[in-house]
Amino acid sequence: MRRPLVAGNWKLHCGPQAAAKLALDIRNGLLGGREAASVVLCPPFVSLAAVREILQGTAIGLGAQNLFWENSGAWTGEVSGPMLRDAGCTHVIVGHSERRQHFGETDASVSKRVRAALDAALCPIVCVGENLAERESGRTEAVVAAQMRNGLEGFDAAAWTQLVLAYEPVWAIGTGRTATPAQAQEVHALLRSLVRARLGDAVADSLRILYGGSVKRENVAMLLAEPDVDGALVGGASLDAKDFLTIVELAGRGSGAH
Ligand code: PEP
Repeated sequence: MRRPLVAGNWKLHCGPQAAAKLALDIRNGLLGGREAASVVLCPPFVSLAAVREILQGTAIGLGAQNLFWENSGAWTGEVSGPMLRDAGCTHVIVGHSERRQHFGETDASVSKRVRAALDAALCPIVCVGENLAERESGRTEAVVAAQMRNGLEGFDAAAWTQLVLAYEPVWAIGTGRTATPAQAQEVHALLRSLVRARLGDAVADSLRILYGGSVKRENVAMLLAEPDVDGALVGGASLDAKDFLTIVELAGRGSGAH
């Protein structure tokens, strides 16, 4: 049984004050850990401490949006896994398409970041997804399979049981255009089958694969009703506490815990 997971990616929104307010509204709206879905909030680095304080003693996870692969040293502007752990993080997003698109992330750097996250006992939420041209030219499966192969090659079963995958079609992120449940299911099933072929049933069946890309209260239940969609990575709609809480509630209900 896979408990659904809903992660809010706040991107470049919410400094410490606004983040504390949003986290408080979300915390107060949840059922104190009795909700059917797990919840993770991913504020910007500078707001981690403020959100940590609000989440203290709750079951809500705290996630960063990126990490560097070296633990310390002359790497101006970077943040490491042990630092995030020390700052109270439980999760970290790795390889988000905005990082790939605007900051030169590659499958090779994703791989190093995943390793660093696991070494720091953080759960990496590893993002894969095709862009519009790739989808329209029928290359979706090949693209996500290559991202998986190159970004996650060499990780053993123990590593796979610690990580979460997120399928995020680039054309659906922040565009209001969502993949249909069938489109999401098709890719999620492929991703799970690739893991099954390499690492067996136990790892594949326990792996959580989130869908991301314009998830809203209106579409989350349909998406999570698909057998291989185990949760959502939510950008825009995670900035509104009411919307996010509704998404969490529907995710818990709709998924029926696959
Ligand atoms: C994201 O940030 O990962 C995302 C899916 O954003 P949005 O929900 O706004 O499309």
